[in-house]
Amino acid sequence: MNKPLITTNSLSVHYPLRGKLFGPKPVVKAIDAIDVSIEKGSFFGLVGESGSGKTTLGRALLKAAPVTSGTATYNDGEVEYDLVNMDGDELKEFRKRAQLIFQDPYAALSPRMTVRDIIAEPLEVMGLTRTRDETDERVREIAAKCRLNLEHLRRYPHAFSGGQRQRISIARALVSNPNFIVADESVAALDVSIQADVLNLLRSLSTELSLTFLFISHDLSVVAHTCDHVAVMYLGRLVETAPTRQLFDSPRHPYTRALLSSIPSLDPDDRGNAQKLSGEIPSPTNPPPGCKFHTRCPHAQQRCREEEPTLSATGSDATHASSPGTHRVACHFWKEL
Ligand code: SF4
Repeated sequence: MNKPLITTNSLSVHYPLRGKLFGPKPVVKAIDAIDVSIEKGSFFGLVGESGSGKTTLGRALLKAAPVTSGTATYNDGEVEYDLVNMDGDELKEFRKRAQLIFQDPYAALSPRMTVRDIIAEPLEVMGLTRTRDETDERVREIAAKCRLNLEHLRRYPHAFSGGQRQRISIARALVSNPNFIVADESVAALDVSIQADVLNLLRSLSTELSLTFLFISHDLSVVAHTCDHVAVMYLGRLVETAPTRQLFDSPRHPYTRALLSSIPSLDPDDRGNAQKLSGEIPSPTNPPPGCKFHTRCPHAQQRCREEEPTLSATGSDATHASSPGTHRVACHFWKEL
């Protein structure tokens, strides 16, 4: 087992809202008390519906969302950063080691810059190269790894398809030679055939460059084919985490089961077995008490409405409860279901 690159302990991001002049202000609990451990070199999937807090968690791990409480640590074996309290030079150094790949390859690239300049910009801003020749060499090197045609470096983004634009975004994210990549719905805007191409590229780059990925997606079928571990989020909380195969073979949480059964199947016998998820995800300004999922759970009981379940190991080996390889679930009744 590899050591964790990212570790969080009870990490929360709460946003206060404008409320009445007097009395307590309402708060949006975007993520609440998240304990997660992302192994070095792994492809870690984070799934859930819109509004579950996936993007906020990804941004908090890039120091791009204000953490309210808890801890988050980055440790690549060379350096260790306190992701909650670092600033100044430490933050600048961390930016070289951690990057984001955006969802929309159309909005992420400046239409006024050539592909060469788009990819080179992080090198120039971070001062990673000294001469233009050095910058060009690094741009060509990473463009080739991302399967971009080097003759296209002089063109502008409008000349490219969605898949090619996403490869340009990936090259820009990787040019500073980072270790940790947050890919936020990075294939959601692409056609299915192009998605497979970009996912294969991300997987091969992660192996070739020893990258650690946090891969955020609402699409479990994409996660199944790409990730080593999966964490499922609901209303700002983790409800289940496990190695991908285990999660797909034996999901424990009713929410995970409902998400899995919503994956379209080509088997006609499977089609009637879908467990439909009824209702909408509740507002994070007014989350339900007890288990956050009880308003939509077909198995909810009185205890679920009163007591919030904790994320606990499902196996007998509780000594490794926080290890990324451990199957953990937050449900009072997972054994009976
Ligand atoms: Fe459903 Fe209760 Fe389990 Fe929550 S704790 S998922 S409401 S059975």
